Amino acid sequence: MTDCIFCRIIKGEIPAKKVFEDDQLLVIEDIAPVAPLHLLLVPKKHIVNALELDPADHPLIGHVFQTAARIVRENGMAEQGFRIVNNNNAGAGQSVFHIHFHLLAGRQLNWPPG
Ligand code: AMP
Repeated sequence: MTDCIFCRIIKGEIPAKKVFEDDQLLVIEDIAPVAPLHLLLVPKKHIVNALELDPADHPLIGHVFQTAARIVRENGMAEQGFRIVNNNNAGAGQSVFHIHFHLLAGRQLNWPPG
């Protein structure tokens, strides 16, 4: 989508700090980090949020979680605990309407979240 900021990052029209990329997924540093490690795992397919997933997307979501686990392990932050967050709709804090998963690690992560 031309007016979607994450689609524009995926196309290279807007710069971002890329951590990982393959044919399905882009992982970038969040521009406003809230933890020492705060990455965004962004599927390249424009899906608005979890409400729009269909069965064909199931392997993609598994790939997101496996990639997050690999990255947090590589950063030595797996054992201390990490969180994968997916906000859906404005009331839950979704501000970019292209599905993405926050990977947060490197500090105590309290529960319940705000
Ligand atoms: P959410 O509020 O769950 O939709 O998350 C959107 C996230 O995207 C926020 O944490 C923003 O800080 C982040 N963000 C917005 N624009 C950019 C950008 N250009 N590069 C990297 N992260 C961004």
